[in-house]
Amino acid sequence: MNSWEKQLETNIAEVLFDEAALSQRVREIAQQINADYQALDIDELVVVGVLRGSVVFMSDLIRQLQLPLTIDFIAISSYAKGTHTSGMVRILKDIGAPITDKHVLVIEDIVDSGLTMQHLFALLQARAPRSLKLCTLLDKPSRRQVDITPDYRGFEIPDVFVVGYGLDFADQYRQLPYIGTLKPEAYQ
Ligand code: 5GP
Repeated sequence: MNSWEKQLETNIAEVLFDEAALSQRVREIAQQINADYQALDIDELVVVGVLRGSVVFMSDLIRQLQLPLTIDFIAISSYAKGTHTSGMVRILKDIGAPITDKHVLVIEDIVDSGLTMQHLFALLQARAPRSLKLCTLLDKPSRRQVDITPDYRGFEIPDVFVVGYGLDFADQYRQLPYIGTLKPEAYQ
């Protein structure tokens, strides 16, 4: 066992969604998105990934979309863990092109309190897109502090901290092909 394998064995408590479950669910979400936007007969969907947690999900999802689309990315500051935030989200890297009058689908890894998405949606809505929707892989509705409901979501999960498939802890574990929970020791 190499040191990376040892690290996983020591720190990952449980696999919540394995590769097969993730790819099956991604296919299902893509079918919903295809049906909804094909019905509108749009000529462009701007798919905006929220860096960095959404990149693995987004790269799998867009390959299942049968729609004319372009991709873009936005990076936003996240407030410190544990802080009670009323602070605004700050844009660290903006999307590359205007979205006025465009159909925009934001791709997020996980919606927890909902504050990040609430602030981001206010920022994007101010640019007058034709439509603005949210697709998140994971949703923790029990933690919600604001009224935000994703238009598409992969899985609802309880109040546990998860890593893998793009999601990190201290910038680690993003490359795991599954989503798992961390052992409490791993936080120390
Ligand atoms: P919110 O503003 O909804 O409370 O927070 C959303 C952000 O918090 C996510 O984009 C993600 O960066 C982080 N987050 C919330 N829950 C988890 C989790 O269980 N695991 C990881 N890796 N990040 C999380």
